[in-house]
Amino acid sequence: MSRDHLKRLGNPLTTLEKIRNSGGRIGKYDSGRGFPLNDALSILSRDMELKWSHHPCLADQAYSLSSSIYDISFFAINCCFSLVYGKSNGTQPPVTPINHDLYHTSGSLLEEIESLVHRHPDKLSMEKISSKNRGYETETTVVTYCQKRRESDDRSKFRILLSFGQHGRELITTELALRLLSILSEEEFLPNMDRVALNKTLNRLVIKVVPMENWNGRKLVEEGELCERRNGRGVDLNRNWSVDWGKKEKDYDPYEENPGTAPFSEPETQIMRKLSVSFEPHVWVNVHSGMEALFMPYDHKNTTPVGLPSKMMTSMLEVMNHFHLKDRCIIGSGGGSVGYLAHGTATDYMYDIARVPMAFTFEIYGDSEASSKDCFKMFNPIDITTFNRVLNDWSAAFFKMFSIGLEQMDELHSKAVASTFDKWVSIDDYLNGYLMERKNRYGKKVEVLDLGMQEIRTYFRLFLLSSVLLLFMFCSRISKSTRPLVSAMNS
Ligand SMILES: [Zn+2]
Repeated sequence: MSRDHLKRLGNPLTTLEKIRNSGGRIGKYDSGRGFPLNDALSILSRDMELKWSHHPCLADQAYSLSSSIYDISFFAINCCFSLVYGKSNGTQPPVTPINHDLYHTSGSLLEEIESLVHRHPDKLSMEKISSKNRGYETETTVVTYCQKRRESDDRSKFRILLSFGQHGRELITTELALRLLSILSEEEFLPNMDRVALNKTLNRLVIKVVPMENWNGRKLVEEGELCERRNGRGVDLNRNWSVDWGKKEKDYDPYEENPGTAPFSEPETQIMRKLSVSFEPHVWVNVHSGMEALFMPYDHKNTTPVGLPSKMMTSMLEVMNHFHLKDRCIIGSGGGSVGYLAHGTATDYMYDIARVPMAFTFEIYGDSEASSKDCFKMFNPIDITTFNRVLNDWSAAFFKMFSIGLEQMDELHSKAVASTFDKWVSIDDYLNGYLMERKNRYGKKVEVLDLGMQEIRTYFRLFLLSSVLLLFMFCSRISKSTRPLVSAMNS
């Protein structure tokens, strides 16, 4: 975190009060700890703890005072600001509004996609899936692309599932969904695109696009909650999946990362899970913004998977980054590359449980210079040049991914044929060989096992906690009961 970043937070007193009142709410990268003020507070409180702990009399007090350290930190930061900038004049840094010359509203974007589908019924089809629980309802639009629509259920095709707009404030991602669908339907074209080669690739694909996974959250953003990333009832849809669900890091911030009451508690997540089960994609991409990165599993630990799938994913991302993204992107595991772990994410579920061989999270744009309160600017390009550059570069990168993915599958397929005496082995059969029982998904065995493990972990933690408490009570009783004995012996 730079000092400049703190400066840009503007009037410290008002900012800090606002943040406190909103439960620590200021802008944060996608799943992020790129959280300048929290960083400042934790550094300050850590320094204070260190000083106290060097003093034997204050060490215990430092421990007991830890809960009020943040209050003291707020006070200290206020003082620093007052000293450096003099008395505050009550001005706020400007917050950039949504640029409606560049960006569609959620309604107009979905309408435009619907009319695109109607203009190209040979290639595109659309379904709207509704889901409801505990009085909360959502509707998800899913568009299917297949060059010959009647072949969209052909299981020999290479299947790709793309989700956009899982976080409400990341408007640029939904614009990318529209751009990709426009290129697929040949209403728009990529510069320097070899349409013949591209058509050859597209002929073997089925692509499902979810252009706006979090429609309710997006509506809140459009109503003025520009920093909102969660769904319509405050749950982060990228923490609501079952892999390592509910685990909270030290700097857990409910405004950003509320995982919900249970894995799949949210209708949006339930719809996406059903889609992954029925479609069985070979590639999954969860498209976000807030920085520029090409992430692969895992988000909940700082390692990447081992073996062939991991190598395939890495080489694909390196080519995309080099040829279309000017090597700007970080490549690696979500958990390892950002310096923090995220639990209950969609990509970890897709890779670990849904057994999608290639599962990614792409972060397509971020303005690290923007004030952390200026969320529209932080997560979305605000000028037409950058807006077009992001859409053009990432469209090209996606089409490159389609062709590399297909090449990799062909390579695997030929290896599979060479390694068996069977005349023909499908991609899925071969993938099952090294990705374990993909068919388990139908029986949901893996998922049940995963949820079971979550419960066992919780019970184990409770057991440990109660053991420690019992031990503590036991020790304190012993120490009380021995005192009179010792004093009796002394006397
Ligand atoms: Zn995001």
